[in-house]
Amino acid sequence: MTAQHITSPEKMEALIALSKRRGFIYQGSEIYGGLAGTWDYGPLGVMLKKNIENLWWTMFVSDREDMYGVDAAILMNPAAWVASGHVGGFSDPLVEDIKTKKRYRADHLLEDAGVDVKGMTLADMDRAIKEKKLLSPEKNPLGEVRQFNMMFKTFVGATEDASGVTYLRPETAGGMFMNYKNVLDSFHPKLPFGLGQIGKAFRNEIAPRDFIFRVRELEQMEIEYFIDPKDWEERFEHWRKEMWRYIDAIGLSRAHVHELEVADGDRAHYSKRTIDFEYDFPFGKKELYGLAYRTDFDLRSHQEGSKTDLTYFDEETKARFLPHVIEPSFGVGRTLLAVMSEAYTEDEMNGEKRVYLKFKPDIAPIRVAVFPLLKNRPELVAKAREVFALLKKEFLNVIFDDNGNIGKRYRRQDEIGTPYCVTVDFDTLGEHPELRDTVTLRDRDSGEQHRVPLSELCDALK
Ligand code: ATP
Repeated sequence: MTAQHITSPEKMEALIALSKRRGFIYQGSEIYGGLAGTWDYGPLGVMLKKNIENLWWTMFVSDREDMYGVDAAILMNPAAWVASGHVGGFSDPLVEDIKTKKRYRADHLLEDAGVDVKGMTLADMDRAIKEKKLLSPEKNPLGEVRQFNMMFKTFVGATEDASGVTYLRPETAGGMFMNYKNVLDSFHPKLPFGLGQIGKAFRNEIAPRDFIFRVRELEQMEIEYFIDPKDWEERFEHWRKEMWRYIDAIGLSRAHVHELEVADGDRAHYSKRTIDFEYDFPFGKKELYGLAYRTDFDLRSHQEGSKTDLTYFDEETKARFLPHVIEPSFGVGRTLLAVMSEAYTEDEMNGEKRVYLKFKPDIAPIRVAVFPLLKNRPELVAKAREVFALLKKEFLNVIFDDNGNIGKRYRRQDEIGTPYCVTVDFDTLGEHPELRDTVTLRDRDSGEQHRVPLSELCDALK
């Protein structure tokens, strides 16, 4: 790990504080004391999130001829969640503090006590907790380990009885299986082809924690890629490389991302191969993304559940069969947290300690900030406004700032990760005639400034 890439609770605290102070991420419903597992994105957080999502959409949907975008309803017919196995099995192991009645993830408590929980059944966890005489974080005895379904139930329609029960989707994947046949019928794609979707999902996590890492309302970017089963290894390899390409594009160092080949006993029963991509978060190495070969489990289950033919007809071989699926799955919040952790940098500039976010320019919420050197000189402000308007035409994320002195403005922009600052000064107005219509362009990482003619500014920023 590089010196800057520290894994420590202090770094996590500094990131959470910076997120709030600068308007990236706030606690959900904070004025009412918050709601566990919910966070709100502020103005800069939204911009960062959109950049992350747009990059994903461009790389994996718009730039590809074999991909189709969808935006499915969050509420679905509950029968779909029965067929997919979520009603029966989308659960985590829960254990209760018998005094306070607070609930914890049994696997997390065991992991924190140094136990390798891979492949453990509920009974194994129960036994391990008893053998190790584990207590709750409040030092009270724990009850039995049980399964806890993580889907949020809700009611559709005016009567709150069993017939109206449905669920907030716990993953976006379901909505894509609902639309596989629609896309097949309207576009007649040949295998392999895929559906891509970005959207909200909801999981009633027993113990939301680590800032936006484990939340109850989350956002996912997912792909269901339909293939001929004979090609699965090649397609799996393709998506594995594509996931690394995205990891590079958002600016994560490969040294901080690790593939974990999920062992036979730990994979879902229908998956023939799963790789978790883990990232060195400030609180440790944890899952960032997943890549799974799900066989024909989903289409087969929905075909049986819906009594609808979901087979694919291959014109060339005249064969009819159920396609298999490769599923690359990305969490938006976890991407944002990884990008922020990666970018968080402390150094010294002009003898002062500085904190800045070293975002890649394509990801940074603000690409360039424009300043007049002095706020109280109307001629400088007017010229800076002109430059601002010029840049706004080229780039979406440009801001104008004349608050405080210039040093403060640079520090503020460094802290929110703006890669470039442009300052209009008296030379821009022609104090030294040879410098007329030039501005200073400052680089965030080095703090260095150089003069650029206005006519070359857009190119220099590109
Ligand atoms: P974990 O083991 O951490 O609970 P998972 O294996 O259940 O995650 P998946 O069901 O594979 O996760 O979901 C796909 C992706 O969605 C994950 O790789 C992660 O990026 C994101 N994700 C899942 N659950 C959450 C959550 N509670 N909060 C934030 N992101 C999540």
